[in-house]
Amino acid sequence: MPDAGEAVALHRLERFTADAIYRYGDTRNRLTAYPFDDLVSTSALSPYLRFGMLSPRQAYHAAARLLEDADALSASERQSIQTWISELAWRDFYNHILYHFPHVLERSFKPEYDRVEYRDAPEEFERWAAGMTGYPVIDAAMRQMNTLGWMHNRARMIVASFLTKDLLIYWRRGDLHFMQHLIDGDLAANNGGWQWSAGTGTDAQPYFRIFNPISQSEQYDPEGEYIRAFVPELRDVLTPYIHAPWTLPTPPKDYPSPMVEHSAARQRTLAAFKKVKTV
Ligand code: FAD
Repeated sequence: MPDAGEAVALHRLERFTADAIYRYGDTRNRLTAYPFDDLVSTSALSPYLRFGMLSPRQAYHAAARLLEDADALSASERQSIQTWISELAWRDFYNHILYHFPHVLERSFKPEYDRVEYRDAPEEFERWAAGMTGYPVIDAAMRQMNTLGWMHNRARMIVASFLTKDLLIYWRRGDLHFMQHLIDGDLAANNGGWQWSAGTGTDAQPYFRIFNPISQSEQYDPEGEYIRAFVPELRDVLTPYIHAPWTLPTPPKDYPSPMVEHSAARQRTLAAFKKVKTV
């Protein structure tokens, strides 16, 4: 659990804006196991922003000040700072959505998608929640949240896609679960993130774009460090197999096989969404 309070928040902001922010464009999607100890990817300021220990204006100005010295920055450093500022803006965007479209708390922003025949599969939901799906990156991410009360943004997108698209379970189940487990649980950002991932929201990932949990894992955790940090059953698996350990000649006995076959699940979801879509 990270330390709380305004002084800690300001110190973290100072550390982030002194160094990691300049590489944020390249590193922000790298799955990071312990962001509160190790500032290598994102700022991990979300709990501080959530509870008002840090204001979004303080965060914005700390970053914007860096842009004033334009000559001292390379193009990629400038772009990284601007990208971080635009991520901060997502926070405001979802607050505006919640204010102007309060129905999003209980229903999809695009109401036609509430007619999708979602599955009621409590046991599958429990496997997802416990980090026992058999897909290492999903299990690492869910166990990260169960351990730290925090999950990396890329991981949030991957597990939300898995629940809503591979398991075809209604996004609100995941939304409520996250609110019970995240230390940065925020009504507007969490709702917006879930609806984006489910393809039911404002600027939604279209329903037919479905994350592949294996290629996402290969791309954003190439060495399997994130997986090994939270899934001890796979600690000794060699990197070429870590993203799909069931392909090993002898898969680890204490780790489950995948609970669903991704390409079949993808087809099931595409069919369910096609039935109700109007545009
Ligand atoms: P950084 O990358 O350093 O970004 C700085 C700040 O910008 C964050 O602290 C956050 O306040 C804001 N921010 C960044 N990305 C987003 C975004 N996509 N939407 C809204 N604000 C953003 N964020 C929460 O604060 N609370 C939540 O409950 C929450 N639930 C999410 C659920 C899902 C399914 C998804 C896909 C995203 C969710 N997010 C949530 C957004 C994002 O994952 C977190 O804000 C981010 O991971 C926090 O890490 P950080 O502080 O290191 O972010």
